[in-house]
Amino acid sequence: MKNIRNFCIIAHIDHGKSTLADRLLQETKTVTEREMQEQLLDDMDLERERGITIKSHAIQMNYDFNGETYKLNLIDTPGHVDFSYEVSRSIAACEGALLIVDATQGIQAQTISNLYLALEHDLEIIPVLNKMDLPSAMPEEVADQIVDLIGCEYEDILKASGKTGEGVLDVLNAIIKRVPAPEGDPSEPLQAMIFDSVFNPYRGIEAYFRVYNGELKKGDKVKFVNTGKQYDADEIGVLKLKPEAKDKISAGDVGYIISGIKVAKEVKVGDTITHVDRPTNKIVKGFEDVKPMVFAGIYPVNTDEYEELRESLEKLQLNDASLTFEPESSAALGFGFRCGFLGMLHMEIIQERLEREFDMTVITTVPNVSYMAHLKSGEEQAITNPSDFPDPADIDYIEEPFISAQIITKADFVGQVMNLCIEKRGIMKNQTYLTQDRVEIIFELPLAEIVFDFYDRLKTVSKGYASFDYYPIGLHASNLVKLDILLNGDQVDALSALIHKDNAFTLGKKICAKLRELIPRQQFEIAIQAAVGSKIIARETVRALRKDVTAKCYGGDISRKRKLLEKQKKGKKKMRQVGNVEVPQSAFMAVLQLD
Ligand code: GDP
Ligand code: MG
Repeated sequence: MKNIRNFCIIAHIDHGKSTLADRLLQETKTVTEREMQEQLLDDMDLERERGITIKSHAIQMNYDFNGETYKLNLIDTPGHVDFSYEVSRSIAACEGALLIVDATQGIQAQTISNLYLALEHDLEIIPVLNKMDLPSAMPEEVADQIVDLIGCEYEDILKASGKTGEGVLDVLNAIIKRVPAPEGDPSEPLQAMIFDSVFNPYRGIEAYFRVYNGELKKGDKVKFVNTGKQYDADEIGVLKLKPEAKDKISAGDVGYIISGIKVAKEVKVGDTITHVDRPTNKIVKGFEDVKPMVFAGIYPVNTDEYEELRESLEKLQLNDASLTFEPESSAALGFGFRCGFLGMLHMEIIQERLEREFDMTVITTVPNVSYMAHLKSGEEQAITNPSDFPDPADIDYIEEPFISAQIITKADFVGQVMNLCIEKRGIMKNQTYLTQDRVEIIFELPLAEIVFDFYDRLKTVSKGYASFDYYPIGLHASNLVKLDILLNGDQVDALSALIHKDNAFTLGKKICAKLRELIPRQQFEIAIQAAVGSKIIARETVRALRKDVTAKCYGGDISRKRKLLEKQKKGKKKMRQVGNVEVPQSAFMAVLQLD
């Protein structure tokens, strides 16, 4: 055990975590040159393309230092706010953390929030200034920020470049010298915590765990404490570049278990694994069910593909337990599913995976958060779909989820950032100067206001010099109304939105204007209206079409005419009939494209 080091990497997105991790793997010869591809840890196609790590993974390296061989377990953590619970579990599995800060950028919001998590778990922090090869690096300034933040000595801060490999050996040596060896007793009852899992289509779920006490042997009968389910440890092992089967994983170490589990829901990050015969009475604390924060309807474009969509969602849920879905139907869109996501990025990823991996063409409705309606009857009703909004006459009050947002920006942009937060119904809680030029601002904001374009707007008003992180703080009462959209008098249920009363008029007007752009002219005039209750608050008109589009082909090129008709037919597939109006798929996301 004294030769094991468990560590993770804390970094803001793009500060170079994946690149540096790759260097560590190379330096320790965990991968051969041939196997070396950029950003090895991000092995999902999507992750690679988006340059983000979606699921955390673990990898074991061997490193010789002063004549002894050390086992270094690197536990990779996702950097995005949507996945913060996974970050906290990965951190709990470690004794140390590399704090990587881009020397050209300085401390950013996600650096700080993840750093707090690491400090909460008493991790040894090794600060690393990365991207030292860049001429724009500001090592003194950023080192000041780090010293202010964690109270370390200047000499403790390492300098490195994932690009050139500079300083990578120092990082490895510091991990061995500074990160404490794990503690624990291999003779005690088995106590292991699951910090991640991945779905393998051939073998079922691989759960990754950290052993705190005891030993897990191949073939052991184990129990997952929280779900109460029992399994045989069919295969256990350690994660090198590929899984490497072992007979035993002991206290202090990190490994994987394959036990014929087919459903991701049975494997809860944070759960404890113990033996059926000799269970531990120490349950690692901190288990938490990840709750979806954002909801949207997903419908097949082709209504015949409903069952196929269900199967695809079921398969996605096998390897992503944080995805929830239940059947719903919409007058405009037919049969589909109301899905719950951790955040907007998670939603985009699911949508993209449905299209890429399952070849589904889907319509996603405007996302919303989950509201709580308190009725005059004393009943409470959770609303995840605006069309379930109760009759306003029955409502006592409505609550919506709020978050605490932490924004770090340059002093020059504080004014603009605050204006944005206030526009989004935010309430300022605190403002701290981290250095002369960097300010941390804490705002409480409705989650609904940040799920759409907040992040993009923030980047714009701060010219890119703002970073953002948040965590939920519970429900607060808000003055919300239901905004309906009507096409020629027919309400389009999939376009209804819950919105703060003060914003209903502006949003209604914008949606009508956007729909007028998106809905093609048809044989008759189309009235687009926005309404709150029975009151119409905005109106636009799409004028009738005069000519038959194929008319100009008559007598002309017949193949051109056929092409045109085919194109129209294809376009039709992406259209939905609402009353007598054909509505393009893009219209259902119109609210997201408003400026
Ligand atoms: P992550 O989001 O923290 O995993 O960051 P990545 O490792 O994906 O790096 C983000 C970007 O910075 C990529 O374009 C890298 O090529 C680049 N990068 C990473 N490390 C360095 C470095 O030390 N020097 C330079 N110049 N670029 C780097
Ligand atoms: Mg990365």
